[in-house]
Amino acid sequence: MIKLADNQFDTQRLHAGYDPKEHLNSPLPPIYQTAAFALGDTDEAEQVAEGSKEGFTYSRVANPTVRAFENRIAALDGGIDAVAVGSGMAAVSYALLNVAEGGGRIIAPTNLYGASIDEFQSIFPKFGIHIDFVDDINDFATVKSLIKADTKAIFVESVANPSTDIADIENLATIAHEAGIPLIVDNTFPTPYLFRPFDFGADIDVYSSTKAINGHGNVVSGIIVDHGQFDWGNGKFPQFTENEFTLETADGQPVSFNEKFGSAAFISRVRIKYLRLFGSVMSPFDAYLALLGVETITERLDKEVSNATAIAKYLKAEPHVKKLYYAGIDQENPLVKKYFPMGIGAILSFEVDGTEKQVDAILNHVKVFTYLPNVGDVRSLIVNPVKITHREIPASLREQHGLNTRVIRLSVGLEDVDDLIGDLKQAIVSAF
Ligand SMILES: *Cc1c(COP(=O)(O)O)cnc(C)c1O
Repeated sequence: MIKLADNQFDTQRLHAGYDPKEHLNSPLPPIYQTAAFALGDTDEAEQVAEGSKEGFTYSRVANPTVRAFENRIAALDGGIDAVAVGSGMAAVSYALLNVAEGGGRIIAPTNLYGASIDEFQSIFPKFGIHIDFVDDINDFATVKSLIKADTKAIFVESVANPSTDIADIENLATIAHEAGIPLIVDNTFPTPYLFRPFDFGADIDVYSSTKAINGHGNVVSGIIVDHGQFDWGNGKFPQFTENEFTLETADGQPVSFNEKFGSAAFISRVRIKYLRLFGSVMSPFDAYLALLGVETITERLDKEVSNATAIAKYLKAEPHVKKLYYAGIDQENPLVKKYFPMGIGAILSFEVDGTEKQVDAILNHVKVFTYLPNVGDVRSLIVNPVKITHREIPASLREQHGLNTRVIRLSVGLEDVDDLIGDLKQAIVSAF
C-alpha cells in the first residue's frame, strides 16, 4: 500500500490503499468477481485462517476489490481501518450493535435519518438496546444528564437530514470520553472531503456510501471507519476483553479482540462477528463503482457546494419561499466556521409559503431536477421528505426539525446552475 501523509487528500483519493504492483500493474483496482479464493497449500491456508498472514479466503469476509475501497476510505477519513458493508443502514446497525450488544443505552438526537430513527425506536429496544433521544444534541447539559452507568455511546449525524443542523463534534467527543464511551458519527452528508470527524475527536464514523462518497446514484453501500484511539478495555465493553473462541495465539491460547488486535479491536470485531455472521456484504462490482466515484469526489463536491450555495441564495430571495434550511449559507455560524470552511454539502431544504397542492405542483413541474429519494448524486434531485424519506419520523418531532408537508429537499448535482435555478423558478411559477 502507498503510504501518504494525512493531508494529501487529492492524491489519496486516487492512490491510497491500493498498490498496482500487487495486481498485474492494473492502475484501477480490478473486479475480483469471485466467491472464494484458492488456499494454496495447507500451511499457507492455516496461516491465513488463523490471521498470521494477510490473504483472502471467502468474499463474505473480505475481497480484494472491496478491500481497496475500505483502505481508500480509511485513508481519506484519517482512520486506521474500515469495513465496507451492503448499505448505510448496515453500517449504522453493525457499528451500534458492536458497541452496545447485550444491552445498554445510546444517546442520539431526534433529527436523524428516518430509517435510523425507526431502527432505534422499534428494533434496537427488542435487542435490549435503548436509545435516549435528545431534541438538540448541542444541548450539552441535557446530553450529560442522560449518561448512565450502562450508556455505551453517543451517536450523531454531523450534518442532519434535511434540516442541515450541525452537531458540535469536538464538544460531544469530550463529553463522551469523560464518560468512558465513544462518539459515533454518521458523516454521510459531508463525506471525508468536507469534514473529518476524527480530527475533532470522534471514535467511529459510519457512511452511506450510496450517497456523495460514490456520487453517481448507482450502488447501495455503506462503510464503517475506526479512528483506533478508543480504549475498549475500560471495563464497559466486555465483548472486547473476554476470550473470543474464534481467536487464539500461535500456541493455541484463547485471546480477546483487545489482546489480538489492540487499537483495531473494534473494526476487527465488526468484520469477524458482524460482517462474517450477519453477512451484509458489499459486492466487488459495487466496490469498483464506488472507487470510481471517489476518484472525482473533490471536483464533484466543490461544484455541488457552489451550485447549492447559488440556489440557496436564489431561494432566500424567492417570495414563495418561507424558510430556507442550509446552514452552510450562514458564514457567521460558529459551527460552520469551525467545522465546514469548505461548505456543509449539497443538500438543502426549503419551506414553501403555500399549500400542499402547490408543493405537489412544484414537484410535478420540475424538468431538470429528478423526483426521487436519494442524495449525493451527480444529478440534481428533489423530494418531499415528510411523505417519502422521513415518513418514519413521528409527527410530534417533525416541526422542530424543519419537517412539515410544505418542506422540499434538494440534493444539488453538477448541472449548469442557471438551468437548475431556472427549473425551480418555472416550477414555482406554475405552482402559484
Ligand atoms: C441514506 C442514509 C443512510 C442509509 O444509507 P443506505 O445506504 O440507504 O442504507 C444513513 N444515514 C444517512 C445520513 C443517510 O443519508
